[in-house]
Amino acid sequence: MPVLFIGHGSPLNAIENNEFAANWANLAARIPRPKAILCISAHWVSSGIFVSTTSRPETIYDFYGFPEELYNMVYPAPGAPDIAKRIQETVKAKSVYPDESRGLDHGAWIVLTRMYPKADIPTLQLSLDQALDPQEHYNLGRELLQLRKEGVLIIGSGNIVHNLTLARMNHVGYPWAYEFDEDIAGRIDADDHHSLIHYELMPNSGKAFWANEHYLPLLYVLALKQLQERVSHSAGKVIYGSISMRCVLIHE
Ligand code: ZN
Repeated sequence: MPVLFIGHGSPLNAIENNEFAANWANLAARIPRPKAILCISAHWVSSGIFVSTTSRPETIYDFYGFPEELYNMVYPAPGAPDIAKRIQETVKAKSVYPDESRGLDHGAWIVLTRMYPKADIPTLQLSLDQALDPQEHYNLGRELLQLRKEGVLIIGSGNIVHNLTLARMNHVGYPWAYEFDEDIAGRIDADDHHSLIHYELMPNSGKAFWANEHYLPLLYVLALKQLQERVSHSAGKVIYGSISMRCVLIHE
């Protein structure tokens, strides 16, 4: 099963018919139908590592001030308690705890409603433990490799550049935002994972984001790349000045 990083941007991408929504649908069309979907979203940061175990995840509206249409949307995909259990068994280096009530946050469902609008694929989430450093997140990602072989689509959902403080209403990206985004893309293509883990040494990283929760899902995706696999980039565009919408598909 391929692995995917999605730049999710605004919740409006769930309802606006724009190039990003179209790209997500196109990506789904390129991927074999998954047995289940595991989403590692920027919007589930926790103390300790948790996996959602509910069989009926609710749709979480973790955003404010958006049109009512978004709050009326429901993404009723079933949960995947069996896969959650597999993750708890498979991950050896750290303990993974069950969360029996966690639903799907907007980092997951605004993307999945475009990729799999029928909501008929079992879906679960894995949290980002705030106590881990980037290397530890990457190492944890590696431990999920077996799931790929079992037909689980792993999606990291965040944004490579994500600085809301510097965001502006026109859609032109800052030059430094494009530079950072393209620098990251180049290092992904070169399999330079060491630099990507130690991103704080890269030029413009201090402006690209001030908190790294939107960047970390990328490290899980890269950790799952096998040497011979290829990388396809899409939607390499910076919007609102400082949000990169780049998506990265890793495939044979
Ligand atoms: Zn977000």
